[in-house]
Amino acid sequence: MGQVWQEMNCTQCSVYFSFPLENTFTGVVKVHCGICRHYHQRYVVQGVVQEDGRYNKGPAVMEIDILKSQCYPRSRVNEIREKMELARKKKFDERDAVPCKEGEVVQEMSADDKVRRAHIEELWLDKYANEKFG
Ligand SMILES: [Zn+2]
Repeated sequence: MGQVWQEMNCTQCSVYFSFPLENTFTGVVKVHCGICRHYHQRYVVQGVVQEDGRYNKGPAVMEIDILKSQCYPRSRVNEIREKMELARKKKFDERDAVPCKEGEVVQEMSADDKVRRAHIEELWLDKYANEKFG
């Protein structure tokens, strides 16, 4: 048993996300976008998402909720493929890591997310201080 990772694109809000499926799984799934919650119904054969068979292979047997943090603005698969192609042509000497700016792989946090993060940091600091100093 192994996992098959694949990247999908949400055409409703234009983000990409990736997720794993077991290679022993065959059936219909509903994948909910982490940003707009639009659902994508797909037929999966041995862990691989298929283009055909979305609506004629029976009802979905599993729903997958993608987290907001799993979404990113540009296809990482395409970017890595482009870099690998350049490496094959000896125009780029990095094979398995793609340098990129923070803004390309992570999304700017909203004001609400910043407040939530600050609150969680404060809770952890309180917990640490309490354990350390009583
Ligand atoms: Zn979406």
